[in-house]
Amino acid sequence: MKEMIKEIEKLKKEKNAIILAHNYQRKEVQEIADFLGDSLELARKAASLSADVIIFAGVSFMAETAKILNPDKKVLLPEESAYCEMAEMVDVKELKKLREKYPDAAVVSYINTTAETKTLTDIVCTSANAVKIVESVPQNKIIFVPDKNLGTYVKKRTKKEIILYDGFCYVHHKLIMKKDIEKIREEYPDAHIMVHPETPEEIQEMADSILSTGQMIKQAGKIKEKTIIVGTEIGMVDRLKRDFPDKNFIPLTMRARCRGMKEITLESILNSLKYDRYEIVLDKEVMEKAKIPIERMLKVK
Ligand code: SF4
Repeated sequence: MKEMIKEIEKLKKEKNAIILAHNYQRKEVQEIADFLGDSLELARKAASLSADVIIFAGVSFMAETAKILNPDKKVLLPEESAYCEMAEMVDVKELKKLREKYPDAAVVSYINTTAETKTLTDIVCTSANAVKIVESVPQNKIIFVPDKNLGTYVKKRTKKEIILYDGFCYVHHKLIMKKDIEKIREEYPDAHIMVHPETPEEIQEMADSILSTGQMIKQAGKIKEKTIIVGTEIGMVDRLKRDFPDKNFIPLTMRARCRGMKEITLESILNSLKYDRYEIVLDKEVMEKAKIPIERMLKVK
């Protein structure tokens, strides 16, 4: 493994490349990243880079976002099969119909959407800023795409009318269950349970806090309990353990593993650097249209 890391470092220098990695990546991938973060942090970082090549250790919509914000740079996704299943749930024809049905509504799309979905979007949001973004638009009616759980979370925190799309993240919606919280509460009665807003409403209601991954990192040090149960993708536990070695982080369930995120390995990163694979290529018009709602989000303070 040491040899592989050395070679990655050498090629990175030669190609003036930078590695961006999401908090859900494998531990060893997180450790070699130049920048590690959630979708919002990575989008902001991607908008400010001077490297020639961006290696995106994440899923395809994230690499697409980096390409849209850096059209002149080479953006590489180390594994073609690293995609987000929730992003793929949006049927573009259905979304067009929804827009026609509610012409006075704003389409707020979660960043976890394809570039094509973003072309039909008024403004993008992440789990960290979804409420703020919904509040920032002038429309009082919102078509919220695609995550119905994050949409429900927003709905409870705004007076605006929220029309939910029927999408979800299988990791948070199906693999994190009510029985997991019940069991862990019994096992660790003094622990703090934090969950992601992509979990279903009933899970959110049973937790002590509902936080995006970026917010989990900001809050973990402030939480008074020493033991913290992490109700999101298991990669997050590695990130938190590294940042807060004095605390005890326990995954709510080991089932919460995102297939797409875990496709990326050190070997695939090395091959990506060696053979320039797999380059993100998007239609120019799609990029230009998709950039507008992303930039609108980045302007919201
Ligand atoms: S954890 Fe869920 S939302 Fe995140 S990339 Fe995986 S499938 Fe998509």
